[in-house]
Amino acid sequence: MNSTTKSSIAFLGLGIMGSSMARHLLSAGFPLTVYNRNAAKAAPLAAGGATVAHSPREAVTCANIVICMVADDAASREIWLGGNGALAGASNGSVLIESSTLSVAWIRELATGAAARGCQLIDAPVTGSKIQAASGELNFLAGGPAEAVEKVRPVLAAMGHSVTHMGATGCGALIKLINNFLGGVQAASLAEAMALIERSGLDRGRALEVLLNGAPGSPMVKTLAARMTARDYTPNFLLSLMAKDLTYALQEGNNHSLRLQTAGAALEVFKQAIASGHAHEDTAAVVELFRQNQAPSGKTATR
Ligand code: NAP
Repeated sequence: MNSTTKSSIAFLGLGIMGSSMARHLLSAGFPLTVYNRNAAKAAPLAAGGATVAHSPREAVTCANIVICMVADDAASREIWLGGNGALAGASNGSVLIESSTLSVAWIRELATGAAARGCQLIDAPVTGSKIQAASGELNFLAGGPAEAVEKVRPVLAAMGHSVTHMGATGCGALIKLINNFLGGVQAASLAEAMALIERSGLDRGRALEVLLNGAPGSPMVKTLAARMTARDYTPNFLLSLMAKDLTYALQEGNNHSLRLQTAGAALEVFKQAIASGHAHEDTAAVVELFRQNQAPSGKTATR
């Protein structure tokens, strides 16, 4: 398809995930306008041919499709409804895609605001992390009207390898929170397991071989175990964002009269890791919380 026949896209939020997603849209030939609060992050995309806007509202002026990928509910609210927010500038008939991991309540509120402007909102958070965003292999979990999802499928396909339509507005956000609730619990329990292995004097290599090749060896546990072992906390998925997802998952449980006890326990662990200064490191840094704690007397931690 010639680029002139392609939808014009506005991309709002150029963090770890958004910068790679926007780059794939450029590579696929979509006319692209980008906005990021910290404007410096837009420079590589500008060099690649994207137009840089100075506000979300300016970014969406000529767009048929708007994609947002920011940290949390507060950031998304600021992007859509803040001063010079995107919603006030969105064209009638445009499709708005929220790909950030957000609460279901905020997604529903945003969808109502979008409808009032004659726009359709799709919640389309992603699974996959920095590496999958860079290689265009994200999985989109979509909620919203089926025909709107179909309309934007070619755009999502430029950034990912699958789109699962989960149902009505908010269903994408909900399954993403459940996904990260399970991931967060695994990360917290792996951190404790790693600390126990190291303190007990077990051979760490052999112990991890048993765990990673056995039932507990999920893709997430494997990835995090490698980073914990290497003490490499270069951000792929910020620890603070995992705490945010667990917080939203707990709220969602409450909304359904369900106390997610393991999510609550994992959130406490991540809160302590944040208080210890690990908020802006990768989620794997949660293990340092347990490494920092004093070993019981008579035992030495095996590093
Ligand atoms: P990130 O690198 O920390 O980027 C966060 C983005 O949000 C930046 O563009 C930041 O702008 C913007 N932002 C934060 N607060 C803002 C505010 N008040 N107003 C306007 N913009 C604001 O995070 P990320 O890893 O790309 O994650 C983005 C979203 O994807 C999150 O919802 C996350 O949970 C989700 N997610 C992440 C991963 C992952 O592995 N990284 C995987 C799946 C889903 P500045 O640059 O100006 O700070």
